[in-house]
Formats: sequence, C-alpha cells, structure tokens
Amino acid sequence: MSSSCKQNILDFDRSHLETFFKNIGEKSFRASQIMKWIYHEFQLEFDQMTNLSKSLRVKLQQISTIIMPEITYHAVSKDGVHKWRLKIGENNQIETVFIPEVNRGTLCISSQVGCALNCPFCSTAQQGFNRNLSVAEIIGQVWVAQNELKKEYKITNIVLMGMGEPLLNFENVIQATRLMTDDLAFGLSKRKVTISTSGVVPAIKKLKSLTDVSLAISLHAPNNELRDELVPINKKYPIEALMPVCHEYVSESTKRKITIEYVMIKGVNDHKKHASELIKVLKGLPAKVNLIPFNEFDTSNYQCSSRVSIEYFKNKLTMAGIVTTIRKTRGDAIDAACGQLVGKVVDKTKRNVSNLSGKDKSFQSIVEMQV
Ligand code: SAH
Repeated sequence: MSSSCKQNILDFDRSHLETFFKNIGEKSFRASQIMKWIYHEFQLEFDQMTNLSKSLRVKLQQISTIIMPEITYHAVSKDGVHKWRLKIGENNQIETVFIPEVNRGTLCISSQVGCALNCPFCSTAQQGFNRNLSVAEIIGQVWVAQNELKKEYKITNIVLMGMGEPLLNFENVIQATRLMTDDLAFGLSKRKVTISTSGVVPAIKKLKSLTDVSLAISLHAPNNELRDELVPINKKYPIEALMPVCHEYVSESTKRKITIEYVMIKGVNDHKKHASELIKVLKGLPAKVNLIPFNEFDTSNYQCSSRVSIEYFKNKLTMAGIVTTIRKTRGDAIDAACGQLVGKVVDKTKRNVSNLSGKDKSFQSIVEMQV
C-alpha cells in the first residue's frame, strides 16, 4: 500500500483510534499504548513500539503511517518567540508560533490553510483560502513544536489563533482539541486550550457539549455597522445573535469567562464612544477583554491606535468592572505577531462571506498569543 493510501494515525483521537483497532481485530487498549508512544515518548517508528506484538507492528506498517508536518523554516526572536513554517501537503505552508513566558508557554496554531473571511485588517485574509487542515495537521503542529522545544520548554497553553477560522473546520478542530486535553496525548486542562472565533454562531452553540474548551471571540467592534466592515461574517451573524450564545457558553459555570478580543485601529474603532458602546454590549457577560494593538502589514492602510487611546479603553472598561488587558506584541521582529502569520497559500479560492454556505465555509484569521 502506498503511503498516501495508508491511514495516518494522527488523524484519530482516542475513541476513533479504539474503533480503528477494533476494526482490525485488535483490543481497544492498543489505542492507549500507541498514543503513549507518539505523544509521550515522541516515538514515530512502529518498529520501536516494543510493547506491541511483532505481528501488530508489521500490520500497522502495512496499513497505516504517522506523518508529521515538515519544518521548512524556523526562527527565534530576541524575546524567545519561536516561529515555524510547516509544509502541509505538496504546496501549502502554515505557521505556528511559541511564546514563552515566566510560568507558561503558549503555542499558537493554525486551523486552515488561509482564510475566507476577508476581515480587512488581517493579513491571512489577503491570501485567500485553500482548505481545512486535517486532525493530523492540527495536532501535528503541537507535536512538532514540543519535539523541537524538547525539555527546554513545555507547552502549557494552546490557542487556535493562527491561520484560519477554527469553527469552520469544526469536526477536525474538535478531535484535535480532544487530543490536546487527553492525558494520553498532551494532557492540557480544558481551560488552557482556547478556540478563537470570529463568531460562527451555530458552531458556538454546538461546541460546549463536544469539547468545552475556552472561548475567545474576535468582536473588534461594538456595533453592527462597524463590525460588518471589520468582521464581515457579522452580516450573517450580527451582534444580537452572537451575544446570546456567548452568555449560554458560560452560563453553567461561575468561574469561566469568555475572552473578548478587540483590535485597536486608529480612527476606526477606538473612539471614546466605542468604549461606552462596548461596555453596553458586554453587560452581564462574564468576560475579560483583550485589547490587541493593531499590527501593521504591507498591504494594509490601517494604523495602530495611539497608546493614549488604548489606555483610555483599558481604564474605561476596567472602571465598568470588566477585567481588561492589553496584549503584548511579541515576536514581531520575526513576523510572528498577531496578524503577521501568513504561511503560503496556493490554489486559493478566495471567497467572500456572502457566498459561503454549508460546512465548507471558512474564514479569516491570524495569529496571536496571550489569552
Ligand atoms: N479566525 C479566528 C482566529 C484568528 S485569531 C478569529 O477571528 O478569532 C487571531 C486574532 O488576531 C483575532 O482576534 C484576529 O482578529 C486578530 N488579528 C488579525 N489580524 C490582526 C492584526 N493585523 N493586528 C492585530 N490583531 C489581528
């Protein structure tokens, strides 16, 4: 069997792997054995998986494979941020970023090759959209980064804030987050895995019963007129549809908060009245706001808000009782900051929100860090 016809083991979370083993006449505990080899021991050779019988190892070699994304570029900035470019399939590349901090290490990963959402302030949008990443390509980013970082750093947090709109690659993202939080794989707590979305309302509704990780919403504007322009999916799922599902997402927990991302763009969404409007929109929602200084890129006409405007927003929201932080820009010297991750997208089929339909919809995005 050629390797392209073989089943990539990384495409399975634990329950799918158990089914895979049952289907080939093996006991389901083989799933935990192989997961430990891959995700704890970083062993990818079936041959070396010594607690599997010789005949099973041979069988696995015949019908399956373990294919990781291939690193094509790696840079480390002075502030310790790592950026990897990874080859996905024949022609496409995505980017993955690691941001070390004193007590944690956050990995920012991609969910799609490119993005179809067309948010005008995001450089991923400029590249158009190619396709969804497979489970293997999503979890592979975590494996490759942790393998590279070796014991020097442990990935403690994962944010799906790289290229793509995670909730438009729903099934694969769900399975990958299960591997991130499974003790037999990366074992992170659900609170330390964050899905960032531009606001795909039906997917947010379904999310909690399936994975229950942390949620970040790219709000970026406090009224529909402005949000229609900055986050065009708002035309389909406006603020009055988005806010109720956010309330629902955290309704049963007294501890959980939704992160609201708000990019600060000079003269666009940073007027004093926008801060007041934002407070009204967030009324009653257990939320923390993350203000993101806009990261400029070549083809954009937007500029970052002044420090004074950003501080004004922070103080105004804080006075209204909303926990508010300003996102630190890190890794910009190696183009690893929010909105700077681009990778390489070929065969792009640029679509806009008005003609998106069904499961295949995909969206906008970029990268970021600190949640
Ligand atoms: N599609 C998802 C994932 C993107 S996450 C989403 O929209 O949430 C990355 C975050 O960075 C989002 O909030 C995104 O809107 C923001 N972002 C994109 N381009 C940016 C830029 N140039 N400067 C600052 N933030 C940006």
